[in-house]
Amino acid sequence: MTMRRVAILGSTGSIGTTALRVLSRQRERFQVSALTAFSNAALLREQEEEFHPAFVGIVSNGTADHGSWRSGRDCLIAAATREDVDIVINAVVGAAGLDATLAALERGKRVALANKETLVMAGDLVDAALKRGGGELVPVDSEHSAILQCITGRPGVEVRRVILTASGGPFRRWTTEQIERATLADALQHPTWRMGRKITVDSATLANKALEVIEAHHLFGLSFDQIEVVVHPQSVIHSFVEFVDGSVLAQLGVPSMELPVLYALTHPERVPDTGVPPFDPVELSPMTFERVRIDDFPALSLGVGAGRRGGAAPAVFNAANEQAVSLFLDGRIRFADIPEAIESALEALRDREGDSRDTILAADEAARRHVRNQFQC
Ligand code: NAD
Ligand code: MG
Repeated sequence: MTMRRVAILGSTGSIGTTALRVLSRQRERFQVSALTAFSNAALLREQEEEFHPAFVGIVSNGTADHGSWRSGRDCLIAAATREDVDIVINAVVGAAGLDATLAALERGKRVALANKETLVMAGDLVDAALKRGGGELVPVDSEHSAILQCITGRPGVEVRRVILTASGGPFRRWTTEQIERATLADALQHPTWRMGRKITVDSATLANKALEVIEAHHLFGLSFDQIEVVVHPQSVIHSFVEFVDGSVLAQLGVPSMELPVLYALTHPERVPDTGVPPFDPVELSPMTFERVRIDDFPALSLGVGAGRRGGAAPAVFNAANEQAVSLFLDGRIRFADIPEAIESALEALRDREGDSRDTILAADEAARRHVRNQFQC
């Protein structure tokens, strides 16, 4: 494998720092050319000193003078489209990552996508950018990495359906009444994964799994009837693929994002790495499975319904969720308000168009406004 040059968008976050851990072990194969962060200048400075990227960008620079760093929102696109970048790891959280994904694909780059919100809100635009630019979209999300690893080298017609695994989040065994009263601290206690705050809340509402169903639909060209979700609390089996002859493949591993990040860089090849501890099935036993309690986690059906409807609905679902989660993280609304906000926004904005970047961004903004108005925030 020749040396590949990597940009990380969102390098100071959970996935961004995981990616840099992987890259620090893989220096003979990958070089870090560009790093961007939102506001954590201190950590970004440390990363610059360790990896010596040619480009460093910070979105929100406060009043500080950061010398040679590029600042402002444009730094994401600037990093993603550089000549000296082959692979863009998009580890930004939320809709803010959209334009950089599109720009990188238009330039023919590989995008290693953690930023699933991008694909959910604008899957058709991402597809069009892929076709025009000849880039490549490779998932970082562990479930989608698992599916990709199971189907690589197989024609799509051989796939009957996929089963996405879900940890079930911290409220898997809580009663309906307990979930109703869940606090922010409760929602931030994820049982198996350490992640950024937004995705941790999404894992508690199961909105994350809805985003992942829509993500799988776009990545693998599957209909919504071909995508199922099952709860697997140990997060060892990262997803299943059932083929047309009835055979089922799965990809397993201890819960660590290092492997899916590395695989997104090397796909379809594999390279030696020591990030993941040796697999011990006895140690990881038992592995159990449950149905999703769909009535207690309404964000999942709301999101899948929005995905089926298409148009602007997935963008409205995503934006209403982002806005509601942000209000919940600020202590301004209750946990149970999150799915209610999503449902209300989907209902109010059901006739919105979503066939271009402008109409999608308008639907995104309208959904956020709707949620803020609903709670008078
Ligand atoms: P995080 O909150 O830890 O990090 C988010 C990063 O995005 C930070 O580096 C921040 O600087 C940057 N950022 C935030 N807002 C920005 C903006 N407006 N403009 C530019 N940059 C901005 O989140 P995370 O857990 O690393 O998640 C990142 C993405 O990866 C999310 O889409 C999440 O759903 C996805 N993901 C995360 C995990 C995980 O294990 N953490 C697993 C699968 C998928
Ligand atoms: Mg996932």
